[in-house]
Amino acid sequence: MAEKTLNVYKIVQQQIKEACDALGETQEVYDILKQPKSCIEVAVPVKMDNGETKVFQGYRALHNDAVGPGKGGLRFHQNVNMDEVKALSAWMTFKCGVAGIPYGGGKGGIIVDPTNMSKGEVERLSRNFIKAISPVIGDNIDIPAPDVNTNPQIMAWMVDEYSKLQGKNTPAIITGKPLECGGSLARFEATGFGVALMIREAFKATNQEIKGSRVSIQGFGNVGRFAALYTQQMGAKIVAVSDVSCTLVNEKGLDISALFEYVKEPENKNMIKGFSDAEEFDRDKIFEVEVDALAPCALENAITSENVNDIKASMVIEGANGPTTPEADKVLNEKEILVVPDILANGGGVMVSYFEWVQNLQNYYWTFDEVQEKQEIKMVKAFNDIFVIMEKYDVSMRVAAFMMSIKRVADAMRARGWVK
Ligand code: NAD
Repeated sequence: MAEKTLNVYKIVQQQIKEACDALGETQEVYDILKQPKSCIEVAVPVKMDNGETKVFQGYRALHNDAVGPGKGGLRFHQNVNMDEVKALSAWMTFKCGVAGIPYGGGKGGIIVDPTNMSKGEVERLSRNFIKAISPVIGDNIDIPAPDVNTNPQIMAWMVDEYSKLQGKNTPAIITGKPLECGGSLARFEATGFGVALMIREAFKATNQEIKGSRVSIQGFGNVGRFAALYTQQMGAKIVAVSDVSCTLVNEKGLDISALFEYVKEPENKNMIKGFSDAEEFDRDKIFEVEVDALAPCALENAITSENVNDIKASMVIEGANGPTTPEADKVLNEKEILVVPDILANGGGVMVSYFEWVQNLQNYYWTFDEVQEKQEIKMVKAFNDIFVIMEKYDVSMRVAAFMMSIKRVADAMRARGWVK
């Protein structure tokens, strides 16, 4: 585990170095960006149901706040550690930079397996954790959100606890809240909707028609199902969809609305297997289906050197985080397959979290359509800005995305007088 942890932090530092070098940035810019500005470690005591007190180890890192306050999730997982939190906080700085939202990066977590805890224990852990990190967070300092194993209910307990500490209602301290206590409409759909927008823009940028095109989506969870639904509404045929249970193929295009309803049936356990209007194959078949665009929206390391040569798409839009291994990425680049990187393609979630924060601060709430309209304007601009950098510097879209966001942060640091 320690080796893997070291690698995540090393990987992010290497990405920062490459982008700094490509931009001709100075050593002092790299020296600030290669590590977080601060990272605290906290010990969180929790009274368990059996009356004993257990102490959990937690962290919160603020990577950089030159552009704005920190922003990033809090995860509850047994493998959380300080290096991982630091690396993820840096990625959040660059994700916010790509999205063009006025935030730096933050990330936090606690070492725990919440699946073995009662609801009451999880609530006490959530409340005590937010109390422990309260000195370093704030609605204009660093704003947490849900991440692995945390959800809107946990955010509601945390905002309640933080508000008690402050003696006033403070909804803008955390995003990803339930609608009833300051959450935003269109947040649930945001990541998948953003992936669909990026598929549409990739077609446009490469002078291809989305209408009647063939698209495949790996993963039919929160991201994959909304990506499929909105891409279909934009005129594409979703000829293949997969999840952990199988791949479904229908040459005429799957009926995604019907599949939405199908997975919701309790006996189908949220899975696509058994859907009637399609041919069924094993789950890895998804990579072989002849399509114009493939959107991996399941987990990391889905496209590897083992299956990359099966891919027949002319573009890959990364809905999941890290779905392409570096080796496979190299092959896709050599084959001139356009890869819209995760840091851009799945940025819809953090973008609508930003809109939630803006609505909380102004205490005025937008309609579903208003939120989606704003998301579309910002994501299309980010795509086009990065596409221009990609062509100008003759780099991949992934490197171009890093370059754009590092330049934003470096320019802000320069304006503030932190570096020459
Ligand atoms: P989810 O748990 O709702 O869905 C995951 C889906 O992937 C499920 O349909 C599952 O069956 C499928 N899957 C798992 N292993 C598979 C395999 N080997 N082959 C095919 N399908 C497989 O998760 P999600 O919220 O949709 O997130 C998906 C990815 O997007 C993750 O990488 C996540 O980090 C990333 N992401 C999510 C959000 C968000 O707002 N939910 C935002 C940014 C990034």
